[in-house]
Amino acid sequence: MPTYDYLCSACGHRFEEMHAMSAEPLKKCPSCKKQKLERLIGAGAGVIFKGSGFYQTDYKNAGSAPSGGGCQPTCGTSDAPTGCKMGKKG
Ligand SMILES: [Zn+2]
Repeated sequence: MPTYDYLCSACGHRFEEMHAMSAEPLKKCPSCKKQKLERLIGAGAGVIFKGSGFYQTDYKNAGSAPSGGGCQPTCGTSDAPTGCKMGKKG
């Protein structure tokens, strides 16, 4: 179960809370009892996915130009050679 950092914007109280990702984020500050809690994402929270080599694999595939000259400036148009993906959207 991941831990989340919470910061109360009312009193500045900061703490970590462990709860499920699907759980409702906390709102009530345990210190001042106001509904001013904000969940801090990314700043030291325990929800960082390490080893994000995921997308780089895709990148390599897209980056390796097709044999035969690669992409021309007409990429993305109907004149683009088959297999040319550069500039195409969607
Ligand atoms: Zn507070």
